[in-house]
Amino acid sequence: MHEMSLAEGIVQLLEAEAKKQSFTRVKQLWLSIGELAGVELEALKFSLDVVMRDSLANGATVHVEREPGQGWCMACSQPVLIHARYDACPKCGVFQVQVTGGDEMQVKELEVE
Ligand SMILES: [Zn+2]
Repeated sequence: MHEMSLAEGIVQLLEAEAKKQSFTRVKQLWLSIGELAGVELEALKFSLDVVMRDSLANGATVHVEREPGQGWCMACSQPVLIHARYDACPKCGVFQVQVTGGDEMQVKELEVE
């Protein structure tokens, strides 16, 4: 389950930020997860629950925003929305869509004290 290592990565990032900005506790965090990031949402929430328990983010509320998958259809020469990395173009049905966005996971915002 790679969500566990993603969750550990998030906590490491929070700890690094805590050192930089000298806060001691994370109360809420907002994550942005692209539709094409390959992240299983429920698995990630479960993993975060586990790894945050022993961290400065113990008990923090996690908010998740989903970014739509974005691509560029080479046949239509225009941007399209896709729901999976290897989706066909929703307009012309050709499998020549390059992913241009919505394939990342980011920590967008933190509420700390
Ligand atoms: Zn197309």
